[in-house]
Amino acid sequence: MLHIKNLRVDIEDKIILNGLDLDIKAGEVHAIMGPNGVGKSTLAKVISAHPDYEVKSGEITYKNKNLLELDVAQRAMEGIFLAFQNPIEILGVNNMYFLKQAFNAKCKYTGIEEMTSLDFLKLVKAKIKSLGITADFLKRDLNAGFSGGEKKLNEMLQMSILEPKLFLLDEIDSGLDVDALKSVAQGVNSMLSKERSVLLITHHKHLLEYIKPDFVHILYDGKIIQSGDIHLAKEIEKNGYSIVKDLRSAS
Ligand code: ADP
Ligand code: MG
Repeated sequence: MLHIKNLRVDIEDKIILNGLDLDIKAGEVHAIMGPNGVGKSTLAKVISAHPDYEVKSGEITYKNKNLLELDVAQRAMEGIFLAFQNPIEILGVNNMYFLKQAFNAKCKYTGIEEMTSLDFLKLVKAKIKSLGITADFLKRDLNAGFSGGEKKLNEMLQMSILEPKLFLLDEIDSGLDVDALKSVAQGVNSMLSKERSVLLITHHKHLLEYIKPDFVHILYDGKIIQSGDIHLAKEIEKNGYSIVKDLRSAS
């Protein structure tokens, strides 16, 4: 699904990622953890082609294609979806209209016939019901005045409509109460399949109890310096990232 080799990424002449390797196979859930500011969001944004981030060297292959040759829209159409750590508010863009435009664009790209407005409304209504979202979400402008948790749920709504292949979930647990966290996690879990993969960025083991990762990686010093399973997340919860610093001083 995704193959990253020796990736170096700079922002404004500052090296953020340096020598990062990561392999995600279809059907796998990978969690990335690491202290604030190490480049977790940068990694997710680079995979989805955010323009601020400059790939200096290295390779990213996605479904056997050179991902770096695809622009942001092509990557989205090919099934990459980024749920933002801080979803932005876009005044003047109606939420429902936004969903339909995105959905139609994807239908066009993949050669599937667009849905009628009525069928699309039925689809969206079923999705909001399963996510526990109220219908007034659809009438409002994109994320305008939404609480932190509502914004995250709205990201999940977009994801469930667009049915991506690679989910990049950047701290979808931040700002959520327990019930909202459960709704979001259920939304993700209900979409998991052998053809879909997840890159889950989180600080908390808690989320990983709801969305079970196959692998847990620690990002530090620009690269993944340790990989393991859920036990690694538990160790960090218990001892903090000091285990990482120990590794660093030992190297
Ligand atoms: P994380 O998600 O792990 O907390 P980020 O990927 O958001 O970290 O940020 C990595 C580093 O890059 C931080 O030092 C951050 O301040 C810096 N950074 C991120 N985005 C920008 C930007 N647009 N301009 C300048 N510096 C940035
Ligand atoms: Mg971040």
